[in-house]
Amino acid sequence: MGSPSYPLTLDLAGRRVVVVGGGPVAARKAAALVEAGALVDVIAPFVCEELAALVSADRLGWQERDYVAGDLLEPTAAWLVHTATGEAQVDAQVAREAEAARIWCVRADDATASTAWTPAVARGSVGTASEGLTVAVSAGADPRRATAVRDAVLAALDSGTLPVRRVRRPEAAGAQDAPVSVGRVALVGGGPGAEDLITVRGRALLAAADVVVTDRLGPRGLLRTLSSEVEVVDVGKTPGNHPVSQERINELLVHHARLGKRVVRLKGGDPFVLGRGGEEALHCLAHGVPVEVVPGVTSAVSVPAAAGIPLTHRGVAASFVVASAHEGADHVLAAAADAAPDATLVLLMGITRLAETAAALIAAGRPSDTPVALVERGWTPEQRTTTTTLAAAAADAVAAGVRAPAVVVVGQVVALREHLGDLSGSNVTA
Ligand code: SAH
Repeated sequence: MGSPSYPLTLDLAGRRVVVVGGGPVAARKAAALVEAGALVDVIAPFVCEELAALVSADRLGWQERDYVAGDLLEPTAAWLVHTATGEAQVDAQVAREAEAARIWCVRADDATASTAWTPAVARGSVGTASEGLTVAVSAGADPRRATAVRDAVLAALDSGTLPVRRVRRPEAAGAQDAPVSVGRVALVGGGPGAEDLITVRGRALLAAADVVVTDRLGPRGLLRTLSSEVEVVDVGKTPGNHPVSQERINELLVHHARLGKRVVRLKGGDPFVLGRGGEEALHCLAHGVPVEVVPGVTSAVSVPAAAGIPLTHRGVAASFVVASAHEGADHVLAAAADAAPDATLVLLMGITRLAETAAALIAAGRPSDTPVALVERGWTPEQRTTTTTLAAAAADAVAAGVRAPAVVVVGQVVALREHLGDLSGSNVTA
């Protein structure tokens, strides 16, 4: 077959289709044809159990004998023939006679000798994202590949990696006055920024969302994959770059849920790690809105990893402390005070007040030559790491033009980067 095949969907209702052969392959084809409303004639000396059941249920006709010349045209011409006798000679004869009579012939024994192929077909199940869909995949003479792709498509639809959502039917006429049932809010951790570092559950909820309330950080690239009727509310960026207040975000979540919407609050990293997810959950619950949380890959751990810095390492550090540096050095010191001397210190939102924080840590007794890494925009193509020491961190950050978002790592584990280098996969060629 030099030219590509021509996919077509047939209306077989009330049309004669001949199935030659009585085994399980013929049975599968016959059952699908019966389902499509075809008038199926099976020609075979014996039939398997499944076919016998269809015969006794009067769903198809059975000529209990071998195929003979003319069967495709008598009593009336068939529109289509499937041959699956298990005998190449018979299948070849059927194919020849079909060709002469201009009847499309699907040959089970030799796809390359067929004039027609049935695609691998699956229908989405009720209650899943693929409900109402028929997926048909054709791969020429390679049915296994077609089956694999078909299953992958259905699985991707159901998991949300292929976010083609089912549009919910408008409320039935007259139902407008009925109280709208309250929707729900999912606080979804989106991970540090790469589109494939969100969880499977988070991805599926995103694919099913009516409204997505999103941040500046996290896998913003996923927003492109949402269909156009999904309302995206960007609370991370507004004209003039003033972020929307937390109070307003809380209100938005409740507002949309009360309209009956499935709301996803897509957040960078993990919702409950310096992300104010707890406040959002409390607000929803206080207003009677069902809420769930989907954990995410926090930048606190994953961004150092991307730069080849394990937060713990045998013989180097056995614990770590995560703190926000946003509130100033006192908070950082308080967080670090009770930590083990070898504990790795991870600072989020640490760039603006880096000078103050580093000086305070030295003053509190951390050696001024403690290694420090500033990892900017982890898990994005712009990931960049500056390594320095506590004493030189502030000046080096200014010199390199380090900007948020960045994770600051303080501790001996930073030295491992010399051996590990970037580990975010961008250095790996397939
Ligand atoms: N809930 C988030 C943290 C939000 S606070 C989480 O679990 O990751 C925002 C801070 O996170 C930023 O100031 C920065 O310190 C850090 N951050 C988040 N994503 C980052 C990224 N891709 N690269 C570097 N730092 C990041």
